[in-house]
Amino acid sequence: MAGSRDSDDSGPFAKPVEGETPSGGLPTLRRKAVECRACPLWRDATQTVFGEGSSRARVMLIGEQPGDKEDLAGAPFVGPAGRLLRAALEQSGLSPRDVYLTNTVKHFKFVRRGKVRLHQRANAAEQAACRPWLAAEFQRIRPQLVVALGAMAAHTVFGRGFSLTAQRGQWHALPAGIPGMATWHPSAILRKRGRERELAHRELEADLRGVADALADAEPPRQDDGD
Ligand code: SF4
Repeated sequence: MAGSRDSDDSGPFAKPVEGETPSGGLPTLRRKAVECRACPLWRDATQTVFGEGSSRARVMLIGEQPGDKEDLAGAPFVGPAGRLLRAALEQSGLSPRDVYLTNTVKHFKFVRRGKVRLHQRANAAEQAACRPWLAAEFQRIRPQLVVALGAMAAHTVFGRGFSLTAQRGQWHALPAGIPGMATWHPSAILRKRGRERELAHRELEADLRGVADALADAEPPRQDDGD
């Protein structure tokens, strides 16, 4: 299944670095992340938006960073982009219990314009500061497949040289031999117009059907000791 490009061994899916990767089950990690002050983004955001799903999930979907709605709700993918993604997941045949949803960065970054909070992209230092949380989620869940949504997540998972346009929808080997794929972020689809949006939407749906097919072909999940 793996394609021609292997990911960077120093990424969040390499072996955990002792003292750098938070430990514990998902509820413990979620509690610890509430207190995170590793970059300035916690100051203006409402709350930490940690991942959602079971430690037994077989697929880990990684987005970019929470938006306005996610910041207020404290849950990932609950805004318009989240609705598009959840509908695409449903049509793919992937079971919600098999999917863990998270983001590369766990706090909302924005600038105020009157009453509106405009999304800002987390910078490289903020992304790097948040990587131990993603590594910890990955180490706890040990999914069978990883899917990066959008360029920020793809660069985190596969390295800076990854091209979403050229390599979208292809499987690549991550450290430990786990296959990973990158596809469109649902927010990027919503920013497109007309036929471009239709095409990207169809590509996201096709990629997620590919994930469901790959999961159906994969070995049965390991027995786990819970969250
Ligand atoms: S964005 Fe990540 S690293 Fe920065 S404070 Fe929030 S949880 Fe910590």
